[in-house]
Amino acid sequence: MTALIEAASPHVMNTYGRVPIALERGQGCRVWDVNGKEYLDALGGIAVNTLGHNHPQLVPALCDQIGKLIHTSNYYHIPGQEQLAAKLVQLSDMSKVFFCNSGLEANEAALKIARKYGVDRGIAKPQIVVYEKAFHGRSIATMSATGNPKIHSGFGPLVEGFIRVPINDIAAIKAATEGNPDVVAVFFETIQGEGGVNPMRVEYLQQLRQLCDERQWLMMIDEVQCGMGRTGKWFAHQWAGIVPDVMPLAKGLGSGVPIGAVVAGPKAADVLQPGNHGTTFGGNPLAMRAGIETIRIMEEDGLLANAAGVGAHLMAALQRELGGLPGVKEIRGQGLMIGVELAKPCGALVARAAEAGLLISVTAENVIRIVPALILTPSEADEIATRLAPLVQALLAE
Ligand SMILES: *Cc1c(COP(=O)(O)O)cnc(C)c1O
Repeated sequence: MTALIEAASPHVMNTYGRVPIALERGQGCRVWDVNGKEYLDALGGIAVNTLGHNHPQLVPALCDQIGKLIHTSNYYHIPGQEQLAAKLVQLSDMSKVFFCNSGLEANEAALKIARKYGVDRGIAKPQIVVYEKAFHGRSIATMSATGNPKIHSGFGPLVEGFIRVPINDIAAIKAATEGNPDVVAVFFETIQGEGGVNPMRVEYLQQLRQLCDERQWLMMIDEVQCGMGRTGKWFAHQWAGIVPDVMPLAKGLGSGVPIGAVVAGPKAADVLQPGNHGTTFGGNPLAMRAGIETIRIMEEDGLLANAAGVGAHLMAALQRELGGLPGVKEIRGQGLMIGVELAKPCGALVARAAEAGLLISVTAENVIRIVPALILTPSEADEIATRLAPLVQALLAE
């Protein structure tokens, strides 16, 4: 094994700009590469590894499940689905759940629910309001809902039926939908993730809830990244005291095991009927066990409170190390979903941070994104800030 893995593989499609390291094992918020070098993991597999790596309770539970059943198909009842669905319904105050395997699949199901909800109400060509800078996935439909022209480029024609508006502007959405009887839903992230960690304001969320009620639109909140405890509540929209009608989940739900879910409230829970939608792998016993155990451990270990507390600690540490620097535009986010916006592109920081033993990501070109496991400790939070600071200073000085 060479020290650095620089070359693209001859056999794996070249779809990612990869950092030239390969990780071999992890423990908590630390990972080691194939050369034995240690890293502090502030990326958490992109907001996926809720419980960190090699969790002492999750691993044996998954091994136990693998020894019983991994997959059976949805020809049969799957007790784990009933159990995890009941838990998600309880945590969200919603009604029913459909299980799938990823974020975009959850969003595809949400979009299908919105269209059929409209068609059932006599709207032949339903339209859905989506947002600038939104990210909802890479399938043809979820890519079309995504508000990033770079992601669309080369893959037209896009799916039709989307109306796009800016975030946090209630007048803009009213103007864009004025007198349009075909609108059936509003679809958004409470905190935009890939778009640069852009939070929707509490007041805007509440105004939107009211608008959806007045016009009988479904409020569909993509909590794939900001949900599952990351902000210190189970779902980020709960900070605004609202309940959505449809809520796609994925990333953190299985702590690393692929899983997706769409949670629906009373207006949307019975829209899909037998034959309308399905998936081979969705809701399999292994993924369900991962979801059930992840939530159980989160509750037992108080990880919502930890995400809020250590998140505030990390925010303060970042403010202290970086806040005053010219070239640092804003440090924002909630809990353990934090973005540091710089005045210039900073993609180069990802590899430089890895070299310095820190895993981070950069999104929207100039936003450093920190989305670690929810088990992060205050001292690890300090370490993130102190390792990052000199790298940011050097980059800004160039
Ligand atoms: C990551 C993400 C998705 C896509 O999830 P995949 O599992 O990669 O398909 C969708 N929406 C949001 C908000 C995301 O962060």
